[in-house]
Amino acid sequence: MAWDFSTEPEFEEKLAWMRGFVREEVFPLETLDLTYEQVKVAVRPLQERVKAEGLWAAHLPPALGGMGFGQVRLGLMHEILGQSPLAPVVFGNNAPDSGNAEVWLQPLLDGELRSAFSMTEPNTAGSDPTLLTTSAVRDGDEWVINGHKWFTSNGSVADFLIVMAVTNPDVHPYQGSSMIIVPVGTPGVDVVRDVATMEDPGTEYGRFGNHAEIVYTDVRVPVSNLVGKEGAGFALAQHRLGPGRIHHCMRWLGQSRRAFDMLCERAVSRYAHGSTLAEKQTIQNWVADSMAEMQAARLMTLQAAWKMDQEGAQAARVEIAMIKYFGAKVLYDVIDRSIQVHGSLGFSCDLPLESMYRAARAARIYDGPDEVHRQTVARQVLKGYVAREVPSEHIPTRRAEAQRRFAGLLEDLTVDA
Ligand SMILES: Cc1cc2nc3c(=O)[nH]c(=O)nc-3n(C[C@H](O)[C@H](O)[C@H](O)COP(=O)(O)OP(=O)(O)OC[C@H]3O[C@@H](n4cnc5c(N)ncnc54)[C@H](O)[C@@H]3O)c2cc1C
Repeated sequence: MAWDFSTEPEFEEKLAWMRGFVREEVFPLETLDLTYEQVKVAVRPLQERVKAEGLWAAHLPPALGGMGFGQVRLGLMHEILGQSPLAPVVFGNNAPDSGNAEVWLQPLLDGELRSAFSMTEPNTAGSDPTLLTTSAVRDGDEWVINGHKWFTSNGSVADFLIVMAVTNPDVHPYQGSSMIIVPVGTPGVDVVRDVATMEDPGTEYGRFGNHAEIVYTDVRVPVSNLVGKEGAGFALAQHRLGPGRIHHCMRWLGQSRRAFDMLCERAVSRYAHGSTLAEKQTIQNWVADSMAEMQAARLMTLQAAWKMDQEGAQAARVEIAMIKYFGAKVLYDVIDRSIQVHGSLGFSCDLPLESMYRAARAARIYDGPDEVHRQTVARQVLKGYVAREVPSEHIPTRRAEAQRRFAGLLEDLTVDA
């Protein structure tokens, strides 16, 4: 019987190396307020060390220069990398480059080119991609793209954009949309602005991690810039988003754990009303609840990763949808409790909690809002049930059936009595 929650000792050694490396080498960089260009320089020697350890771009199959780790091991890695926003850059698998490289874009692999995924539009509901209006019309050897996008993460620092556009309006959007590579310098690409968000209200244009608004007007690119086949855009997006969601959830667990460690450290350090905070029952409840919720999210996520490795992304659809909304809530709640335990210090910018909290809010929206994932889960679950006039557990009905079935036994029992 195979039922095993352990990690192979050789891989556990790699994880232990990563834990120390991220804490000792990456955490300190967070405090320096570096610009994107400075970050690129600062992380270069660290990236070389990661390559020397054989951990660079580990999400990719070996044929593309990655490690072919599979989702469970990748998940365990992302749990460590998720602790710091800089760690995925150091390890060559930050979103969205990691997802985009998964759709086979070789130039991303050495980490020198940066990509962005341009799908969401301000004027249509991103949670229903069948409403997409951006179009790409074939004209000779070129695609001509017109559309208006926003929340293209890293769009203003990207070298190229992967644009989702309708290439065949005569079929269902799931068969009529395609991904097309558009180099940022192409005439007609107008990166209008970086949208200020609650994660970064005072954002300056051109910062890594920003979300760009982009207008595409008669943008012409060669037909060979199509990613995969014409009409395969949504199939590719699904391929990209499945592993991406598992990686997100594991990164959130890394963030949750960091917030949780701060919560516990403060609880045992701060004294009020005759005891440390750790001795108050409310705080103990937060510790216990956070611990249980993180454990549940972790096991759910690793099980989703395992199922994906065993049976593929489609088979793990419900599990992946479940961890997306469950994990996002755990992240949000644990950071919130940690802020509360720290009082005014938690609200201040002297701790990373306030920025973690603002970033965590977005987790309930990007890669599909909570409600859509809940709907996916509920629909799949409900398919397993049939409508009945009388509930199958209705006791009088069951009793009548049981009396019929056991009539002989009941008679014997009555006689014996
Ligand atoms: C930080 C961040 C980064 C992002 N990065 C990218 C990126 O790189 N590329 C990209 O293309 N997009 C990106 N997005 C956009 C993201 O994918 C969309 O925001 C998301 O798909 C939701 O689309 P929308 O914003 O248009 O909201 P809408 O589709 O308008 O939905 C709004 C709300 O409607 C409700 N709702 C929707 N459907 C249902 C339903 N079936 N049942 C009940 N309620 C429902 C939900 O509460 C939802 O939050 C990013 C967003 C954020 C916040």
